[in-house]
Amino acid sequence: MQQFHNYINGSLTPSSHGNTFTNINPADTNDIIGQFPLSSKQEIDLAVDSATKAFSIWSKIPAPKRGDILRKAGDIFTRRKDELSAIMTREMGKPLFETLGDIQEAIDTAYYAATETRRLFGYTAPSEMDNKMNMSFRTPIGVCGIITAWNFPIAVPSWKILPALACGNTIVFKPSEDSPYSAHIFAEILEEAGCPPGVFNVIYGDGAAGSFLVEHPAVKLIGFTGSTQTGKKIAERCGALNKKCSLEMGGKNAQIVMPDANLELALDGVLWGAFGTTGQRCTATSRLILHADIYDSFINALITKTTQIKLGNGAHAATQMGPVINAKQLEKIIHYVSIARSEGATCVIGGDVEIAGDCSKGHFYKPTIFIDVTSDMTIFKEEIFGPVLAVSKAVSLEHAIELANNCEYGLSSSLFTGNVDAAFRAIRDIEAGITYINAPTIGAEAHMPFGGIKGTGNGHREGGWTAFEIFTEWKTVYVDYSGSLQRAQIDNY
Ligand code: NAD
Repeated sequence: MQQFHNYINGSLTPSSHGNTFTNINPADTNDIIGQFPLSSKQEIDLAVDSATKAFSIWSKIPAPKRGDILRKAGDIFTRRKDELSAIMTREMGKPLFETLGDIQEAIDTAYYAATETRRLFGYTAPSEMDNKMNMSFRTPIGVCGIITAWNFPIAVPSWKILPALACGNTIVFKPSEDSPYSAHIFAEILEEAGCPPGVFNVIYGDGAAGSFLVEHPAVKLIGFTGSTQTGKKIAERCGALNKKCSLEMGGKNAQIVMPDANLELALDGVLWGAFGTTGQRCTATSRLILHADIYDSFINALITKTTQIKLGNGAHAATQMGPVINAKQLEKIIHYVSIARSEGATCVIGGDVEIAGDCSKGHFYKPTIFIDVTSDMTIFKEEIFGPVLAVSKAVSLEHAIELANNCEYGLSSSLFTGNVDAAFRAIRDIEAGITYINAPTIGAEAHMPFGGIKGTGNGHREGGWTAFEIFTEWKTVYVDYSGSLQRAQIDNY
């Protein structure tokens, strides 16, 4: 079996203790991909030391030169796209057309970040005093600890790592234990692009490795993507340690459909939103809110189309929906479906594991729809992270928005309507970081702010220019060329 090692200071570094975890193909659990180290505190210390040493060199390289390296990384991601897509599908299950999209997101982010290195603008402002100049610059923060989930093994890390590097920070990356192979390739690509040793380090492991990174005093920032439960723990520790942290957490996203919408489009939208990536996206459509006038007919059409979804191994060309990530996640879905039944929701399709044919060797769950879901039910409120859609009925746009907002999370949202007034009312009133009009709840673009409010985030946004806010501090500079002591607020008034 292939043995993988942490990537520290530009070298693959065997662990000192030999404790490992196994990376398994979720579509075929007989397919063992390799063994990765369960990193200890000692290994995290080593990686943080290397990132700390590299910071003094990397942060002083002119930003556009750092951008040249990121541009090359974009070129290499492009060259290795098919190979990396196959690796990603093998380790986390989503179909090849989706893993190709995942890598395209990193390519777009690499080119965007490279360009942004020529535009790390500060501000200048007039001084209140004579012969004095005021200005402000962005400065890097230092060593950033990056901790991510598995469902976008390249795209999500790229949203953090590439802007952080562009700004002059160095990185210790702790990928999810369910997608470590993609992180290994990420390191190869940055090395080939010319990233000096120590600038980018990868340490593998579980939550314990992540928490060593959070606790390390030389790690100045934590960039986290994962569940709200873990994110809150990290936020508490970062608060106690006075460490900056950006959190991208869970979602329970609603698509609203009004009777005046293009209903065929709304149908395609919810199928992609709910069952794309097997429902395992933070932005997945897990709630569908239908206006009463179309409730029955829309559900009938939805059931018909859902029966046509082809489940299977993501590596096979015909597959539209892949497996669930692991046995624990499959158990979680089974648990939520049983709660939904016991609370009185009606399962109209799915509601069970899939073990036939191509699905006999992995963790597969049928696309599942519950109707007559009310706002007090558990499946209306809690993130399941699987192919389970909860459908509710609304009597008006206002009622639909009220239902959409009746939720602890605030990541993505969507409204299908042909009425421009309704669209703008929804844009104003829906409580979410992202609102789509006549498009599903998934589909973020690399150059736009991404993130959520309420239980989803802590005020930061990744993607686009807002990521550069996360990964920089401000330095304000006053240059007094008057030759005399000018006391602000005192001498000039
Ligand atoms: P998770 O919270 O279990 O794990 C995420 C990462 O945190 C992993 O690398 C894990 O090893 C690490 N970790 C776990 N405990 C830790 C601790 N105490 N200290 C430090 N690190 C720790 O999440 P998951 O199951 O891997 O991913 C699914 C979740 O991620 C869902 O809730 C989903 O909505 C969310 N997600 C959010 C976004 C977003 O951008 N908002 C994107 C993708 C996924």
